[in-house]
Amino acid sequence: MSSVIKNLITIAGPCSAENPEQLDRTVSQLVTQGIDTIRAGVWKPRTRPNQFEGKGEEALKWLQDLKRKYNIKIATEVASTRHVELALAYDVDILWIGARTTVNPFGVQEIADALQGTKIPVMVKNPVNPDLSLWMGAIERIQGAGIDQISAIHRGFSSFQQTRFRNPPMWQIPIELKATLGDIPLICDPSHIAGNRKMLFDICQKALDLNYDGLMIESHYDPALAMSDAQQQLTPQALGDLLVRLQIRNVSSSNSTFINKLDELRDKVDHLDREIIEAIAARMKMVEQIGSYKRENNVTILQMERWKEIIQSRPEWAKLLDLNPELVMDIYKLIHQESIKQQTDIFNSNHSDSTLT
Ligand code: PEP
Ligand code: MN
Repeated sequence: MSSVIKNLITIAGPCSAENPEQLDRTVSQLVTQGIDTIRAGVWKPRTRPNQFEGKGEEALKWLQDLKRKYNIKIATEVASTRHVELALAYDVDILWIGARTTVNPFGVQEIADALQGTKIPVMVKNPVNPDLSLWMGAIERIQGAGIDQISAIHRGFSSFQQTRFRNPPMWQIPIELKATLGDIPLICDPSHIAGNRKMLFDICQKALDLNYDGLMIESHYDPALAMSDAQQQLTPQALGDLLVRLQIRNVSSSNSTFINKLDELRDKVDHLDREIIEAIAARMKMVEQIGSYKRENNVTILQMERWKEIIQSRPEWAKLLDLNPELVMDIYKLIHQESIKQQTDIFNSNHSDSTLT
């Protein structure tokens, strides 16, 4: 795969292959920007019917012609046995499984079965819903078909709530995937995360800061004319400009002053983590005492007034300490959930010292 930036997999191309002219103009300009791996969807999984659903087999022919003309690699999305067979027949170099297919183990298995005996690289997008196991399961099915060049594409997760992202990234999920399957390259698709052009740079930079292995970015010679995802596509020139602005970080440093300082700081973090965990454990002990007391007095576990007071005061305390109140709120939701669970266990147990037994 291409490497406009040293050691970074860089894939770009239009959301959809629309017609031979659109493809040729886009690809020739991307090649000028140093891109040699082109993405283009020929079968488009559209959320609602009666939208542009891709040109199918005829678009594979256009891509095959461009592959020869520009000496590039071609990547496209497949969602069925037929798609895999056609993509292979037209010399597609890399396949990807889309977010709407990754959610469906039957669909992924069908693709895996069709891939048996081939060696084509496959990229697996995250499922639309934030489910790490589903993503891993899809990767495992493709591994099971004997494919050894597999990468994971992070394209964000759909959300019922309106957010500033089209698909909120929820970075902790791909980070966990990478931690579990360390040897699988992780590629960020900022286009489907952002859904617009203005956030692309920040998302790409964040992906690089998190040591991602690559980027897959949508690009169209004239985004305003795009038949799908017009708002998020960049011109090849804008894409080139974005790539040169990215800061490349080192994965580590052999500088001994850096290493010593980092060790020292991490030591402090370890101590603080220990204190946090000890404080949570002490808090849980109190929660248990309160649970027994509630049970003895026959009052409900959930006391709405008390919970309201907590969700009001804790974010306020956080703000006073320059801490993100939303982070503190999230932590308290988890703590409260666990507290209720602990107290429910106490209510359901047969304490011999309880007045209720
Ligand atoms: C795409 O890459 O154009 C696409 C359809 O993406 P996703 O599967 O992430 O929605
Ligand atoms: Mn798209």
